[in-house]
Amino acid sequence: MFAEVIVDIAHTAVDRRFTYRIPEALPVALGHHVLVPFGQGNHTKEGFVVALKETADYPNIKEIARIIERYPVLTAEQIALAEWMKDAYHCLFVDALRLMIPAQMRGMRVKEKKVRTVKLADGLDLDAAFLALSKAPSQKRILELVAKIGAEASIPDLNAFYPNCTASVNALIHRGFLIEQSETVFRRPGRVVIHKPAYTLTEAQANAADAIRAAVEQRKGDVLLLHGVTGSGKTEVYLKAIEDCLAIGRKAIVLVPEISLTPQTVGRFTDRFGDRIAVLHSRLSPGERFDEWRRIRLGLSEIVIGARSAIFAPVDDLGLVIIDEEHESSYQSESTPRYLAGEIAAKRVRETGGALVLGSATPSLMSYSRALSGKYRLLELPDRVAGRPLPTVEIVNMRDELLMGNNSIFSDKLAERLSECLGMGQQVMLFINRRGYATFVSCRSCGFVLKCDNCDISMTYHKTESRTRCHYCGAVKPLPKECPSCKKPFIKQFGVGTEQVEEAVHRLFPAVRTLRMDTDTMREKGSYEKLLSAFHRGEAQVLIGTQMIAKGHDFPNVTLVGVVAADTTLNLPDYRAPERTFQLLTQVAGRAGRDNLPGRVVLQTYEPNHPIIRFAKTQDYVSYFHYEIMERKKLLYPPFSLFLRVVFADRSEDAAEKACLHYAKELEAALKTTLGEEGKQDLLLLVAAQAPIARISGHARYQIVLKLLRTRRLKDAVKTVSEFHDLHRTDCEDVQLEINPQEMF
Ligand code: ADP
Ligand code: ZN
Repeated sequence: MFAEVIVDIAHTAVDRRFTYRIPEALPVALGHHVLVPFGQGNHTKEGFVVALKETADYPNIKEIARIIERYPVLTAEQIALAEWMKDAYHCLFVDALRLMIPAQMRGMRVKEKKVRTVKLADGLDLDAAFLALSKAPSQKRILELVAKIGAEASIPDLNAFYPNCTASVNALIHRGFLIEQSETVFRRPGRVVIHKPAYTLTEAQANAADAIRAAVEQRKGDVLLLHGVTGSGKTEVYLKAIEDCLAIGRKAIVLVPEISLTPQTVGRFTDRFGDRIAVLHSRLSPGERFDEWRRIRLGLSEIVIGARSAIFAPVDDLGLVIIDEEHESSYQSESTPRYLAGEIAAKRVRETGGALVLGSATPSLMSYSRALSGKYRLLELPDRVAGRPLPTVEIVNMRDELLMGNNSIFSDKLAERLSECLGMGQQVMLFINRRGYATFVSCRSCGFVLKCDNCDISMTYHKTESRTRCHYCGAVKPLPKECPSCKKPFIKQFGVGTEQVEEAVHRLFPAVRTLRMDTDTMREKGSYEKLLSAFHRGEAQVLIGTQMIAKGHDFPNVTLVGVVAADTTLNLPDYRAPERTFQLLTQVAGRAGRDNLPGRVVLQTYEPNHPIIRFAKTQDYVSYFHYEIMERKKLLYPPFSLFLRVVFADRSEDAAEKACLHYAKELEAALKTTLGEEGKQDLLLLVAAQAPIARISGHARYQIVLKLLRTRRLKDAVKTVSEFHDLHRTDCEDVQLEINPQEMF
């Protein structure tokens, strides 16, 4: 027998199947992780068996050296998926395969954990043994304990009863009274259980769950879009759908954005499904990740809950994939292969005959369009559960506040709502899309703006550190006392950040305890969980934060949400700015009044008549969708087109610019050939210019922005760009191709 092996080296030149002979004694199967001799010096390399065959086309074939894990690490479905990704994302086969196993398994950097266990020797005469131990009371105690346990006992467990008993245990083994064994244990991440009663589903929830069950049973790989307002009970629908899926013996994967993968979310699933769940996210230790992955691979868990990359979990007979908050940009991978979790999920359920559920209160324009055109099945939860109203949204025009002489952070309205809510002992979330104390530092006399020395970015003032910080490279600078340019003492901080909001709350309500959540307070491992559970337990009444606090959280006692500056994200120079603002405002607003207490939202803005602000007031997704899709159509923005970007960064301005212009010229020619006469119009835009942020960390930046019309030729055009990118040689230090870039700066 022979095996086709993909060697674990990420290089185009060796990204193909190599044939190896399988030695007689080695039980190699499809998907095994193996060691093989490779190259001229026959150094051993790791590889993956992606096919088995009876014959080889040429003589003198090398042999597989050994198997690494006893079981095949890849399933046949995963191998096929990786092969498909190779074309779909223009990546190496091995790049795709690497996504399917925990990173630390490569290079054998993580091992199974074994513990020593002991049990009574077979046919042991206990009475005789106790008699023999009359002079060794500590050994006797242990033997008694093991006898009482009546099963295998681990050494750590025995030590918990009788500290430092290992020597006595060894003596008992030596006497032949106990038999030693060892047992593999699974390191499991700490678990929280959030108990919620088993609700009777509302009619809308039950209909949605039924539709999902039917799709799982029909095995057609259907995609369903669950559009439910915030607090409509989407999670409850997921739980029921999973229950139904497990009941027919199939398995499920649930994806949530990394940021909402909190103990609260996992806790609700754990409450319902207990040990049948495996969890995969970035906060696990390598050992925990390996063990959770193995529990899935070995069929010891039936539900996987995790962030983006959990879509590759080795689940067999996958019946259901749920992607919560499907509109989140974190479902798109930022590094090679640049996959979309939703696309992978759709592909997997097509292969396994499952169903894919996309859930959101604010679906992406693409998903909702597909639902309207019938490509996806649309399921709707138009109301909150239990007749709870959506929160009342009040818009405050901050210009009017200024005219009335109020130039503080809080409008009179927000201050009034704050004192009402705090007075009743309820909780508040205050949202500001900016960390630090002030956005920028500038001179009121000459207009000088304090900038980072390495980046083309203004410095942000952090009061707690009493200095300024660059949010791109982390560089710090003291706050100048006088203007470095005109030397006058008129340096002032402008704009409002999280720190300043916190200070303002303390000034108005000195007795109230607050918590602040932004990337500055979240640097330590575990701080995110700690802070959220402190707020959950009511240890603070006010939670102030950036978008970190906007998503997914379910705090029953929060009745007021204040958005300090609703338009900060609205006017960014990015076509997605309105969409992101609407999503964000709907999500934050959705945190209010999720339990029995009704919720209120105060949105402070300088543009109360902006359509997006008005849609956010009514939280009317459908009207918003029709408005936004018309706007996109007018300017042929996505989903009617696709953006691509190539970023050039180099310490030398000249090198970056030259590389960029040269690349652009050649790329344009290549694209014209691919698109041909007929597709000439598809290339809507190709500009090469200095990037809007001209310098980051001391590197000059240039970029090419491409806009391609979405036609049947798009796939070929993207392939042309990817292939061109791979083959293009340049002297520029760093050249990155981004398909559907998340930022345009
Ligand atoms: P969503 O994910 O749509 O924002 P959740 O699933 O978190 O909403 O549900 C909102 C709240 O309503 C939660 O506290 C949940 O426990 C509760 N809930 C869900 N379904 C029901 C129901 N059928 N009856 C009563 N309460 C429910
Ligand atoms: Zn910087």
